[in-house]
Amino acid sequence: MKSYLCLLWASSILGAPVNKQRQKVLLISFDGFRWDYDHDVDTPNLDKMAKDGVKAPYVTPPYLTITSPSHFTLLTGRYVENHGVIHNMWFNTTTKLKKPYYQTQFVNEWWDNGTLPIWITAQRQGLKAGSLHFPGTASSYQGENAMKKEVEPGLYNYKNETAWRVNTDKVMGWLRHEDLDFVSLYFGEPDGVGHKYGPDSPQRQEMVKQVDRTVGYIRHSAEQHGLTDLLNIIITADHGMSTVVRKRPDDITLYKIPGFSFSDISFYLLDYGPSGMLLPKPGKLEKVYNTLKGVHPHLHVYKKEEMPKHLHFAKNDRILPIILWADPGYLINHLPVQFNKGEHGFDNQEMDMKVFFRAVGPAFRKNLVVEPFESVNIYPLMCHILGIQPEVNDGHLNATKCMLVPKTTTSKGVDLRQNAFTGLAAVTGFLAVVFIVAMSYKIFKKKSKSERGGNMDEIF
Ligand SMILES: [Zn+2]
Repeated sequence: MKSYLCLLWASSILGAPVNKQRQKVLLISFDGFRWDYDHDVDTPNLDKMAKDGVKAPYVTPPYLTITSPSHFTLLTGRYVENHGVIHNMWFNTTTKLKKPYYQTQFVNEWWDNGTLPIWITAQRQGLKAGSLHFPGTASSYQGENAMKKEVEPGLYNYKNETAWRVNTDKVMGWLRHEDLDFVSLYFGEPDGVGHKYGPDSPQRQEMVKQVDRTVGYIRHSAEQHGLTDLLNIIITADHGMSTVVRKRPDDITLYKIPGFSFSDISFYLLDYGPSGMLLPKPGKLEKVYNTLKGVHPHLHVYKKEEMPKHLHFAKNDRILPIILWADPGYLINHLPVQFNKGEHGFDNQEMDMKVFFRAVGPAFRKNLVVEPFESVNIYPLMCHILGIQPEVNDGHLNATKCMLVPKTTTSKGVDLRQNAFTGLAAVTGFLAVVFIVAMSYKIFKKKSKSERGGNMDEIF
């Protein structure tokens, strides 16, 4: 009897027959959506999302403030030095080979280097996950893939609003009809127009209007798919955008720097906006470092072990021994081959690198503006809403839990209390049945004794 009661009790406490359904999360990134892009454009749908949910004035992305490293931070909650996707470009310092952004999406070992993205963690804990176009989607991780995944084809038109709607409906279908719990969804703009025309251009403003219409469509589609009460939508970005001035008299072009010679360099990543990395030849590190350090007032030169701590961009073998970055307005050139009017990749403390953040759904409070936070904290927030155990990460739920409705903040406690109540009720019911059976048996026995062959119907 005792063991029976324990089993009954345990199943009531640990089982999952909680009335409410598990909440879902849709993480959306609009590439290069700077924190203030809604300040100079009419954005009724983004405004409504803020009213119906939570807004942060801005969020700080990790350094290096470029696409793949920052997106992998959203998926893992780790700083770039810890998750290892340190650049958009895969490279090999021995063979000197480099692959551009899109090709690097398909270099599995670049992504699968020890840190698990949330898709895999969720799936290992019994949930279903998917991803559409989000950087990192093409790769497998420890042999596992997101259950539903779609990678954009080469030469993809990232601007097409109709395709944005088709993709939106597709992921809503995954969430509704295939019961996925987590989906990450990526849109490649307004990064493209920010680069080409600059962050202050009318083209960027037009693209923000397209983003706003799409946000309205996303929420409408969620409603049409009957997901409003279950789905939490988080919209953010990977980095901001800053105006750069080309052909300035004081531009930073390495081959022009007196004493600097590429013959001292074994491998380099340059001509990538305002950031660069150098691998000097053996015995040349001090020479290269001393030649570059302090040579230009807007060029920052660091040995990786001396990198400012707040950048979290040092402790990884993939990071090259000398790291360079420029102040806003400047680029770092090997040769003067860069033509963009807007760039990112600057220090993440620069306001131009900060990103946008909105969240809406059953887990989130309404009409709330929270303090700015770092984007490493989005991962533990998503794990909490999904009810999964996060991997080791650099974020803290404390940084974001103020945006959650109290029920979700204490959901484990509430569930436990609910379960405890259910358990008590079950045990009480069970004891009542035992009592009735015991009493009945007693009466039956008594009756049998006195009447011989008494009818059970009389007893009940
Ligand atoms: Zn980007």
